[in-house]
Amino acid sequence: MTTVCLTFDFDALSIWLSTFRQATPTPLSRGEYGARVGVERILAMLDAQGVAATFFVPAHTALSFPGIVRAVSAAGHEVAAHGLVHESPVGLDAAQEREHLRRSLEILEDVTGGRPSGYRSPAWDLSPDTIAILEEAGLLYDSSMMADDFRPFRARKGDVVTEEGFRPGSESGIIEFPVAWELDDYPYFHFAARPINQGLRSPGEVETLWRAEFDYCHAHVADGVFTLTTHPEIIGRGPRVEMLGRLIRHMKATAGTAFSTLSDKAAAIAVAQSIRQKQQEHMMPSPAIAPAGPQIDGPQTESSQPAVGPNARFYDQFAVGDTWITPRRTITEADVVAFAALTGDHNPIHTDEEFARTTPFGGRILHGPAGFAIATGLEFRLGLKEGTAIAFLGMTWDLRAPIKIGDTICVHQRVASMRETRNPTRGIVDFHVAIVNQRGEICQDGEWKVMFFRRREGGAS
Ligand SMILES: [Zn+2]
Repeated sequence: MTTVCLTFDFDALSIWLSTFRQATPTPLSRGEYGARVGVERILAMLDAQGVAATFFVPAHTALSFPGIVRAVSAAGHEVAAHGLVHESPVGLDAAQEREHLRRSLEILEDVTGGRPSGYRSPAWDLSPDTIAILEEAGLLYDSSMMADDFRPFRARKGDVVTEEGFRPGSESGIIEFPVAWELDDYPYFHFAARPINQGLRSPGEVETLWRAEFDYCHAHVADGVFTLTTHPEIIGRGPRVEMLGRLIRHMKATAGTAFSTLSDKAAAIAVAQSIRQKQQEHMMPSPAIAPAGPQIDGPQTESSQPAVGPNARFYDQFAVGDTWITPRRTITEADVVAFAALTGDHNPIHTDEEFARTTPFGGRILHGPAGFAIATGLEFRLGLKEGTAIAFLGMTWDLRAPIKIGDTICVHQRVASMRETRNPTRGIVDFHVAIVNQRGEICQDGEWKVMFFRRREGGAS
């Protein structure tokens, strides 16, 4: 199985302003071409192909072209972080770097309404602090390094490299999707007079090179991730965007190939790793409720004491990466009948065994929303929200495989990101949630957004 992750670095004017330091009208207008011409062509091509992609967007681009960045997001593509003004983190001190990331995430969220879950360094280079700062900010992945080609890995913190040798540091929670100059449109196509880079290769030549890289990945790398980096101002030229369309058609015609945003792929990798880890620890299927119950604080106010359960957590007691597995439950015919009665959804795929046998599912399946509803009940058994959650704010959710009568499911839950709200008594936790069946397959997964109380300042701890 090969996953193709198409990525577009929507640098617009920022790369000329910051990285190339050519802030005169004509160089800047080369960046403007990306916004004015390139993105629209790319969106039309992706729409025709029916594939979703990741756009790395500097805050400068989002502020300059908010309508275009919103259109990218509204078309179902991921918008991820790419610096404030396309600056390299190298040379920034940790406090400056943290602040640049915080502001860039805030600006992207203001423009698109969604919080980014990944980062690509505009310079394809990181400071010694970058990975820790990405982790702190609750991001899931980075895509800037080159230690592998088609196998994502956990980025490390604290590598020591001296004349005597190399001592690797510890693995972080950040999933690294490696990049390569070979799989980037810049060196092939970008013409620069100073310093000389001729670029301007023919689309057909580059198509041959990229196709050979993809074919090698598919033939030789199990579960490979093919990450391609392109730029609207470069790939947006007509013959080049047509070439990319041909390449996508070739990939789609190759059996065992799927397309994904980096964010979705990172979430899938994180869930798969957590399942493997739990299996190794022989913890499946027992519930992995936090071993040491959280310290429960006093009431939020004297007059409104919540009924706080023994396993409940306040916002401050969660950390990004915290993971739980719920108890299991077998899906029975009674579940299907009860849900059909409750909702009035008597679609024969749920209620007519003879009909259902003739479908690709081979028998009756549980209603998709019933799977989600049962997942909320399984999750409740962890007790995390009892008396500390204020509201379920929403979710994004994918149905990946049917849940059949007789299947036994549990729920895997991980804290994907957290953010404080303007109200100092509250915070929002984004959980990545997956319904996993007895074969370890993910049936449904997505993000649940929940608002929690924060612990009262100065409360007992
Ligand atoms: Zn860039």
